[in-house]
Amino acid sequence: MQKLYLTLFTIIMLASIGCDTKQPDVVATIGMITDVVKNVGGGKVEVVGMMGPGVDPHLYKPTAKDIQRLNSARIIFYNGLHLEAKLGDVLAKMSGGPKSVAVTEGIDKTYLLSPPEFDGQYDPHLWFDVTLWMKVVEKVRDTLIELDIDNAVTYQENAERYLTQLTELHQYVKTQAERVPPEQRVLVTAHDAFNYFGKAYGFEVRGLQGISTVSEAAISDVQELATFIAERQIPAIFVESSVPSRSLEAVKAAVKSKGFDVQIGGELFSDAMGPEGTPEGTYVGMVKHNIDTIVQALIGETAPTEDE
Ligand SMILES: [Zn+2]
Repeated sequence: MQKLYLTLFTIIMLASIGCDTKQPDVVATIGMITDVVKNVGGGKVEVVGMMGPGVDPHLYKPTAKDIQRLNSARIIFYNGLHLEAKLGDVLAKMSGGPKSVAVTEGIDKTYLLSPPEFDGQYDPHLWFDVTLWMKVVEKVRDTLIELDIDNAVTYQENAERYLTQLTELHQYVKTQAERVPPEQRVLVTAHDAFNYFGKAYGFEVRGLQGISTVSEAAISDVQELATFIAERQIPAIFVESSVPSRSLEAVKAAVKSKGFDVQIGGELFSDAMGPEGTPEGTYVGMVKHNIDTIVQALIGETAPTEDE
């Protein structure tokens, strides 16, 4: 008899787990935002990230399942500043539904970059200035507290801990960047994702494609960039995990035809993080990977291993 009860109990338990199709509380677009929500939300928030490794947010089209998730979420965090071009349009149209929050909203415009070729729009890639991304952490913290005041202390403490990590990360990137002599601090990548990085850590940056990847690079762009690389004798250029590498290969070939050899210095994580479970699958890990890869390729030395 006892066994029967136990079996029944097990069946009921399993059934209730099976029926637990509880929708996520939070949906986030790019991995870097998902990571912030995980860190600040701790065990109190269930977050689903829409864009995985290698996914380009400029070109991302939401699936039917995404729309369903967006509709049932309590809150949606997205970058804004037109990073999520097509998805951003969808989010803008979702009135009356769940609250969607652009994490860059409210950041003082004086911190934002607006390169001349971008016609008055702001550069959305602000996660590469770690101090700016810390403002995003505060925004997520404040939004979660507003939504769930009962767990305010937890969000407060989690954010505090994460912000301490990011302060250390900022210092790490600065220290590593300073190992490259100023005249050698030139970063050439597939698209213009590193303007904030350049400004914060003293690099001149050039991207083959513009701030978005929507338009393909023209042959004239390839030639112009190749001339710049050959004249400045830049030792290495970098591919990005979320942008096809073929156009940078074309640049490498064009540089060679000008009698100079440029290396592909490695792969950077620009608009998407690495696979989950790897160091680069976190924001802190991707930022460290990028600076280590850049410094190593530009000065031909490996980064000193950190004392943990
Ligand atoms: Zn981008």
